[in-house]
Amino acid sequence: MSAGSTEEPRVRLRAAIAGLPAYKAGAPAVPFEGTAYKLSSNENPYPPLPGVLKAAVAAAEEINRYPDFASGALIEEIARFTGVPADRVAVGTGSVGVLQQLVQATAGPGDEVLFAWRSFEAYPIITQIAGATAVTVSLRSDETHDLDAMAEAITERTRLVLVCNPNNPTGAIVPRAELERFLDRVPKDVLVVLDEAYVEFVRAEDYPDGVAISLDRSNVCVLRTFSKAYGLAGLRIGYAIAAEPVAQALRACAVPFGINLVAQAAAVESLRSQDALAERVSELVAERERVMAALRQIDLAGRYGVELHDSQANFFWLRLGARSVEFAQACEAIGVTVRPYPPDGVRVTIGEQEANDRVLGVLRSGF
Ligand SMILES: *Cc1c(COP(=O)(O)O)cnc(C)c1O
Repeated sequence: MSAGSTEEPRVRLRAAIAGLPAYKAGAPAVPFEGTAYKLSSNENPYPPLPGVLKAAVAAAEEINRYPDFASGALIEEIARFTGVPADRVAVGTGSVGVLQQLVQATAGPGDEVLFAWRSFEAYPIITQIAGATAVTVSLRSDETHDLDAMAEAITERTRLVLVCNPNNPTGAIVPRAELERFLDRVPKDVLVVLDEAYVEFVRAEDYPDGVAISLDRSNVCVLRTFSKAYGLAGLRIGYAIAAEPVAQALRACAVPFGINLVAQAAAVESLRSQDALAERVSELVAERERVMAALRQIDLAGRYGVELHDSQANFFWLRLGARSVEFAQACEAIGVTVRPYPPDGVRVTIGEQEANDRVLGVLRSGF
């Protein structure tokens, strides 16, 4: 420390930024004798599809040029895939990037952003960056959204409501009828975001069609990502489907040339490779069902006080409470990184079968 450093004037930062909690990314795989696995970030365990990789590499030959500013080819492809007009589509640097644009477009100091808790940990951070106030409503004891309580928590300052469906980290869905009833109670000038990061993994019959709802209701926006089912987490690309004025506001808040040209090319090719991708997603869903069935064979309630609930995503949730970190450490000791959220629980991604089996082993043998 140099002499007199305490006298140096400090750059003034916004108070909201100074108090910001850091985003905790899922920890990387740990060094381990044998294969180490990362089940801490809900990534897709499959490598990129050969055709997608080829498109990305071909695009990389042109990285001395700026990407298409409007992501035109990609927007067209998303519009075709989702069956909405192109002016209802906006893209961003991951759906977290799109979400940040949404918050910027709707909420500032004095405004409220409402969401369930526990939910996606980016929500409070993005809200705080905008200088808005986060208002949270606890999940119900079965890990689902308490939409009645959320409707009651709406005030005249509420500008944005985030509904994570399925919810990260619990895997629970909001069913169609409950969602419609909730939307009927939300004022029409408050934007509701349906964060569908895991939509491709959902098999529940009563899961709502978010895109259709967004066509019906001008205050509903759907968020999707290429990071999870599509396996392009490393390229940072996501999109929103919303009424045209909302989509336009999103474009206005975008970082210029934010979606790089490798990401644009890979995402377009992915959307054209639906059959191959759907096959992989089906295999992951089948693996989820295998793991959930195995979990049900373990006396989680008796041994750990954990009640197992359905998951419709590519992960499962164990409400281990005070033992969350201990469990994560036991998994790490056998080469598997999971995601503890102390003091609530642990989220475990459905990954390679060997990795999932190791986690099951820890729960069977105790930790
Ligand atoms: C992973 C995830 C996202 C996607 O993030 P990207 O920025 O697209 O990688 C969005 N919402 C939720 C709830 C998630 O879990």
